[in-house]
Amino acid sequence: MNTASLQCNVCPHACMLPPGATGRCRARKNYTGKEITSDTPGMPWIRDACHRHPVSGIFPSNYGIVTSLALDPIEKKPLKLFCPGSYILSAGSFGCNLGCPFCQNHSISTSDGSEFVSEDNRLTPEELVRIAVDTKSRGNIGIAFTYNEPLVGYEYVLDTARLAHEQSLKTVLVTAGCINKPVAKQVLPYIDALNIDLKSFRNDVYRNILGGDLDTVRSFIETACTMCHVELTTLIVPGMNDTEEEMTQICDYITSLPNGADIPLHISRFFPRHRMTDRPPTDVSTILNLHRLASARLKHVFTGNM
Ligand code: SF4
Ligand code: SF4
Repeated sequence: MNTASLQCNVCPHACMLPPGATGRCRARKNYTGKEITSDTPGMPWIRDACHRHPVSGIFPSNYGIVTSLALDPIEKKPLKLFCPGSYILSAGSFGCNLGCPFCQNHSISTSDGSEFVSEDNRLTPEELVRIAVDTKSRGNIGIAFTYNEPLVGYEYVLDTARLAHEQSLKTVLVTAGCINKPVAKQVLPYIDALNIDLKSFRNDVYRNILGGDLDTVRSFIETACTMCHVELTTLIVPGMNDTEEEMTQICDYITSLPNGADIPLHISRFFPRHRMTDRPPTDVSTILNLHRLASARLKHVFTGNM
């Protein structure tokens, strides 16, 4: 049996995974060895996915596991300037490569999937696309990959988005964007619109509080905005990123992007949750002030969670 560790290249954490081990996102696993064969018991979705992908060892254990499914207004993603007034079938799985202490979806983002991996939660790409087609009559325009970090399981996003486009469905990604460029370039041709978090403009905040990497997020945004409709979201957390100086840096950055002044920015209000309960909700006056400041630089600025 091969006992060599493999390195995952999906995000900057670059996890080294011995056979059987799962990465920091808790969703990518080294299946090297007997676990990933054509007769892997109890995990037919992994087996089926292996037929689609030449798996070298590391593969998402959340492939085809849908923990949340809802037909949401597109504005809830949030996307304000992409097919306004429409609905989108929104699917989430488990796992995330960041560790935001204020995560609203921590029950799935921090899960290793042990409570979710079962046939009951399994939806193949074909099955999810079929549901999306069947809900067109209720105003559905496509599929949004959201709730947890979809790109730690990018193979499922890719397989499903390709099929969705064949059925003339729109595809949307809601992501923190802390994903390496080769993965972005593989997936983005099959995505129509994204909401990407730009959670801070400080490296130390990404590194020490969120467990991510600002340069990778910037690179992801810069790639995505040349290929897809992009909207950005900044959650304003008291004491973390609520200064006029940081909002000015964020606006300077956005305007430096191709057609940057046209990129919508969502400025959202923080509420205490998960592991961040040591501070109050963001003052409404702070949000309104940052909205005013950003509106002087960008054409489309929206407030959220107000
Ligand atoms: S995607 Fe997951 S396993 Fe891969 S490097 Fe990032 S945290 Fe590690
Ligand atoms: S990136 Fe999103 S899903 Fe992941 S921990 Fe942060 S808030 Fe939660």
